[in-house]
Amino acid sequence: MPRPIQALIHPAHLAHNLARARACTPDAQVWAVVKANAYGHGVANVFEAFRAADGFALLDLDEAQQLRELGWRGPILLLEGCFEARDLELCSRLKLWHAVHCEQQIDWLAMHKTHEPHRVFLKMNSGMNRLGFTPQAFRAAWTRLNALPQVDEISLMTHFSDADARRFGEDGIAHQMAAWTEATHDLPGERSLSNSAATLRYNQRPEVRADWVRAGIMSYGGVPDYPEHDMAHWDLKPGMSLRAKVIAVQQLQPGDSVGYGSTFVADRPMRVGTVACGYADGYPRHAGSGTPVLVDGQRSQTVGRVSMDMLAVDLSELPQAGFGSEVTLWGQSSKGAVLSIDEVARAAGTIGYELMCAVTRRVPVQVE
Ligand code: PLP
Repeated sequence: MPRPIQALIHPAHLAHNLARARACTPDAQVWAVVKANAYGHGVANVFEAFRAADGFALLDLDEAQQLRELGWRGPILLLEGCFEARDLELCSRLKLWHAVHCEQQIDWLAMHKTHEPHRVFLKMNSGMNRLGFTPQAFRAAWTRLNALPQVDEISLMTHFSDADARRFGEDGIAHQMAAWTEATHDLPGERSLSNSAATLRYNQRPEVRADWVRAGIMSYGGVPDYPEHDMAHWDLKPGMSLRAKVIAVQQLQPGDSVGYGSTFVADRPMRVGTVACGYADGYPRHAGSGTPVLVDGQRSQTVGRVSMDMLAVDLSELPQAGFGSEVTLWGQSSKGAVLSIDEVARAAGTIGYELMCAVTRRVPVQVE
């Protein structure tokens, strides 16, 4: 018998979430962002569900190649462009569009021998200070690219740091929109600005949704601005459910402790289930006692420290639950109850993005 743990991928939910991005921005095209192995879901596992996208956006060339092998002929955008000059060969061969965020990438293009000119997305650092040309340097970079025979189309992009929240008392994108608009208003080309948070929160503004939105976390059912909003508010559904089973049951008396470090001590008689999921499966060790779980579809919580292969859940209020009970660590239980990954992440001091990406290779993945 395999260890009773599984990551179940829900294609119908993924397709629903992508449709939500489109519904928010009906006049824009939608990139399904599938970097980091589709946020941990597996590129091949999400491909059919996201086929309705206008393009796929990612970082790694091998994932781009995988999409071509799966039969995707449409646009693929490398969000960070090339990491070295020779990557351009594969860009040409696979017909990849790529971001250009620094002078070195323009130098590589200028030296690149290709019969088919490239489409590039010139990236502006409008305030996040991670990648991109400053607003002051942007026009010169555009002019340089525009003079290259290796380039036949220049689109413009930037990325928001605070689309999920307010920043210094104003809306989170105001400072970046001001820099962006001033530097790009008279430049030609398609534009891409919005991540999930901007797609959900600022879709009334045509200059923000622009020509392409980049829907990442929302496509997987993660809520970018949790806890201000939840899955129901944005009508999103979990793309992945992490489920395991109770493999042992312990009776505790007051004063008994659970797990390493005795961080949880029972103050009453309790029944505790040991679950086949630990930090070696990607469950966050920082999830202390009280992190929500679903046991046979009913809410309960963890007790004690997460160990490498196991964690413990309180079964005291669930008399029907016991050996073999299904424990949904996040996502949807087989009975249809939903526990948002963002709620679990918050209890563990992290974000849903990290939990999705952190599920480890030893967890069998099944596509529903
Ligand atoms: N665009 C770029 C350039 C990104 O780096 C990311 C993710 O970090 C996204 C879009 C998607 O962001 P999100 O998952 O918040 O929608």
